[in-house]
Amino acid sequence: MKKIIVAGAGGFIGGHLTKALNAMGHRVRAVDIKPLNKWYQVHSGVENMVLDLRIKEYCYQAVNGCNEVFNLAADMGGMGFIETHKAACMLSVLINTHMLMAAKACGIDRFFYSSSACVYNGEKQTDPFNPGLKESDAYPALAEDGYGWEKLFSERMCRHFTEDFGLLTRVARFHNVFGPFGTYDGGREKAPAAICRKVIEGKMLGKKEIVIWGDGLQTRSFMYIDDCIKGILAIMESAITEPINLGSSEMVSINQLVDYVEEIASYTMERKYDLGAPKGVRGRNSENTLIRQYLGWEPSIPLKVGLKKTYDWINEEMTRSRGKDAKRAVFNEA
Ligand code: NAD
Repeated sequence: MKKIIVAGAGGFIGGHLTKALNAMGHRVRAVDIKPLNKWYQVHSGVENMVLDLRIKEYCYQAVNGCNEVFNLAADMGGMGFIETHKAACMLSVLINTHMLMAAKACGIDRFFYSSSACVYNGEKQTDPFNPGLKESDAYPALAEDGYGWEKLFSERMCRHFTEDFGLLTRVARFHNVFGPFGTYDGGREKAPAAICRKVIEGKMLGKKEIVIWGDGLQTRSFMYIDDCIKGILAIMESAITEPINLGSSEMVSINQLVDYVEEIASYTMERKYDLGAPKGVRGRNSENTLIRQYLGWEPSIPLKVGLKKTYDWINEEMTRSRGKDAKRAVFNEA
């Protein structure tokens, strides 16, 4: 049994990771900047802390007394957020830098850093039939402006803390992760959750049209959260010393993603394409040779299976909040 800190535990992936580590019997310290009532998941038996991990002293406080660190804290969101908040994304460099310094000072055994497919060179993602990004495709560096550069810098910071100070670090490059207990509205949501929300809203209100960002032909792969958690835990325990892809290789176009969600909802809408909206690179997929070699495993939960679970959760949440709004309206009128 270890004492483990999860930074960013109030967020989507951090909430699921905290649950898994807690269930494994570890003593977990969950830390996030958000007030506790805004965390997606709060688990009993876990020590919860609300701290701004950009501040060095708070990182020391968070890490002190732990054996392992999982750093998932970052100011981030989908394309709509990262294309318009580049400075905010880059300021997350303070979190990982100070967390590494605290980990070194506190004699931490292992440190996990959540990087992203946004580190990859943009010129290698101009084809919608992308055969998959290999780990070496991050160089020569031409990362996603703002968010991607911060991730690439922080990856290297991990590498040099290992080389110069002997701190054991593990870095996974997540490709789009989705599932229940994540953001589905407000501007930080990613494509799967956003499309589920739009279709559910359409069905609830009898809307005929759905707005798609871009021409719908851009491609991506999407990893269900259970695969992500399994991969994080395996990478942390492994002997992998270099940044490694953690993503599904089931690539689909955004149009196909909408087809799947409409099929789950049994509701079809007319598509309007917003060509001026943020849309990111043209084609992105995860190339999984390295993870198969190291772990004999790769993410494999089919997109349709994960989408059904995600759709059902968002549907429940939206139905509940619609009920609350209706009650509030009646109360206000009374
Ligand atoms: P998320 O936004 O749901 O979670 C991140 C959490 O970090 C949030 O709860 C946020 O409040 C917290 N945080 C932000 N600033 C903080 C600070 N100063 N101090 C303490 N906590 C702070 O995002 P997520 O989807 O769970 O992503 C987790 C990690 O994985 C992030 O580092 C993200 O960049 C990376 N990642 C995610 C995806 C994905 O598809 N979700 C893809 C690639 C990489």
